[in-house]
Amino acid sequence: MVEEGVARTIRSWIESSKKVVVLTHTNPDGDAIGSSLALTLTLLKLGIEAHVVIPDGLPDFLRWLPGIEYSTTFAYRREKAIEIVEDADLIFCLDFNDPKRINGVEEYLHKSNAKKVLIDHHQEPLQFTDIAISETWRGSVGEMVYIFLQEVFEENLLDKDIATCLYVAIMTDTGNFNYASSYPEIFHIVGELMKYDIEKDRIYSNVYDAFSEDRMRLQGYCMQEKMVVFPEYHTAYISLTDEELHKFNHRKGDTEGFVNIPFSVKGVKFTALFLEKKDRIKISFRSRGQFPVNLVASEHYQGGGHINAAGGHSFLSMKETLAGFESLLPAYSKLLGDE
Ligand code: 5GP
Ligand code: MN
Repeated sequence: MVEEGVARTIRSWIESSKKVVVLTHTNPDGDAIGSSLALTLTLLKLGIEAHVVIPDGLPDFLRWLPGIEYSTTFAYRREKAIEIVEDADLIFCLDFNDPKRINGVEEYLHKSNAKKVLIDHHQEPLQFTDIAISETWRGSVGEMVYIFLQEVFEENLLDKDIATCLYVAIMTDTGNFNYASSYPEIFHIVGELMKYDIEKDRIYSNVYDAFSEDRMRLQGYCMQEKMVVFPEYHTAYISLTDEELHKFNHRKGDTEGFVNIPFSVKGVKFTALFLEKKDRIKISFRSRGQFPVNLVASEHYQGGGHINAAGGHSFLSMKETLAGFESLLPAYSKLLGDE
């Protein structure tokens, strides 16, 4: 994954760095936090001062991760986060392809004279680092960091904590090996991680059995009252207004994963989630198979993303947005019908 010359350069940058910061994307997920902590814990083992800076909102289900105390959230501890970024001689950018994805931290990334290295798996990364390691076919940055550690460092620095962080990254970005994981190498990597006595079942439970009662009931409400299925178009969507979210004491992250719920209905290949925000409707799209949801997002909703996961916005009312979405389906009928 990392060419020998590039690995040598990065090694020399690490060796000559006193302070390193790992940046990851806004609204971070298990891959963002898990891969960033794994890299940070490895650097700390080498005696290098290292931190993770997160733009905002660390979700509760990731707070138990080893090394979480080395993370600082820009939205809550702005001064400290800025100081960490300004003091760094080396900056790693993990799990994002566009500096806009780190919100307010972007300004300090641009100002910094530090060396910058990207490790990412999103399509079409922008050029904003000295070195970019981009492999868009990989299921997670977690596996990229695993390979990076093997290829850049001569000694094996893995331990149980680092392996746990990498496993969380890989597990969450593949939906517990449900997608983006149909190639042998990922299971080889997981097999290697298992050698460090990681507690696979406990990790699963920490991440996935961590919902509040309100969140579970909101999910039930979505399934019972709000899921609309169009069997002829292999499509289903869920929408939630601000009022509905309020009724279930909505907290940030509660709707995470809701877009995948309708896939459990036999035949559904294309799903959408419409969430009412203050000034717009935020839309998430997902698909299974060849249906390109990034096309739907870019053609109609000022958005984009990957073939199977994309998003965008609508500035119409919820009612108009949903009517507009339903009216698009016939035009995609052929693509949706294809296997
Ligand atoms: P999510 O549905 O989780 O918010 O977003 C899924 C993926 O869609 C993201 O990883 C990102 O690649 C893409 N995406 C979501 N919203 C937008 C948007 O407004 N613009 C663009 N270009 N991509 C988006
Ligand atoms: Mn990722």
